Amino acid sequence: MLQTTIGLCALCCALSLPVFAQSKIATTGAPAPATPKGQRAPAQYFTGTAWISYLVADDSTYQCVVGNVAFEPGARTNWHRHPSGQILLVTEGVGYYQEKGQPRRQLRKGDVIQARPGVEHWHGASAKHAMTHVAIVPNTEKGAAVWLQPVTEEQYLSPSSK
Ligand code: MN
Repeated sequence: MLQTTIGLCALCCALSLPVFAQSKIATTGAPAPATPKGQRAPAQYFTGTAWISYLVADDSTYQCVVGNVAFEPGARTNWHRHPSGQILLVTEGVGYYQEKGQPRRQLRKGDVIQARPGVEHWHGASAKHAMTHVAIVPNTEKGAAVWLQPVTEEQYLSPSSK
């Protein structure tokens, strides 16, 4: 039995299975390096706390990357653009999407956003509610994203900010 347990743990560690991270949280209360929410979104491209879990890795067959992104309240991407555009499927919470020069749009579960190729924009949670979306980036051979400056507090809080 002990041997089986050790064997399983070794396998879980080797594969970095989410179930292992989950059980670690449940038994010790300590944060695991990779949570079921995924990896912490990089601070140089995001304000606040967001988590990215890749669902489809980029490869030469599909040239498409799909990820689940969970934004905690107040968290958002920097301004950025996608050379081949991006599709966002909102699955939970309340958030925002804004294109440069356009009013900020509120996002809710079920909303679908099509960010056109090269159009500068940002997306994230609202100030009081978390938001989760699936992000689909096609034609990654042209590049996934070009990252720009952070969204300021003034821009973030203004529904009509430019
Ligand atoms: Mn985007």
